[in-house]
Amino acid sequence: MRLRLPEEHPTEPPTGYKIAYPVLSHNGRRAGFTGVSLGGGLPYGVLDDARCVYGRRHRCPSRRCDCGFHCLHSRDEALGLTCLTEHRRAVVLEITVLGSYIRYERGMRYARQRVRIARVGPCSCGRASDRFADAGWGRAGWRTVTGSCAGCAADRMSISFPGFARLAGERLTVSAAPGTAAAAPPRPEAGGTVPELVAEAALLQARLDWFQSELAKVIDRDEP
Ligand SMILES: [Zn+2]
Ligand SMILES: [Zn+2]
Repeated sequence: MRLRLPEEHPTEPPTGYKIAYPVLSHNGRRAGFTGVSLGGGLPYGVLDDARCVYGRRHRCPSRRCDCGFHCLHSRDEALGLTCLTEHRRAVVLEITVLGSYIRYERGMRYARQRVRIARVGPCSCGRASDRFADAGWGRAGWRTVTGSCAGCAADRMSISFPGFARLAGERLTVSAAPGTAAAAPPRPEAGGTVPELVAEAALLQARLDWFQSELAKVIDRDEP
């Protein structure tokens, strides 16, 4: 007797969570994501069908193969994966599972998905990310981008979150986690007037003069 798995008929498509890298096409016209392990070489759009990563001609998810989209049931578990050294710069996607799926204890393998929300972690400096900047690596035709603050993006190619969402289409939402550092780099006391700055410079000059005279005394004393 062959045992069959129970079939599910949910009233609403299931929600899942996964980690991925956002990617921009080389001409800057398309945006999508790539997986972090199996299927990492195949960028996918916000609404897309899974293709067999081994190039076999079957529908995903096949029981005889491990291809197809994968997701976890728990957002916390997906977030936990971004602690791994190699996935620190990945984003957490909230997706809707479409089409047929195979349910496992911790997640699902399935045919089609819609990415609804991309949650971006803080910039590597600790401030909240407010854009995607060139990560410095990618795949043929696709440039990987990671969450960055304005300061750290500097002169690197970057795109705003709304800009990325527009290119990705399908009403994708990009949301940034709060940073662990101050929102903006420390700036010198704002509102300094010219007389105040002149006074500050005079004070610094006086301290420098004093330091040099003390240094000269020490040198005079120590020289034979
Ligand atoms: Zn396959
Ligand atoms: Zn930064």
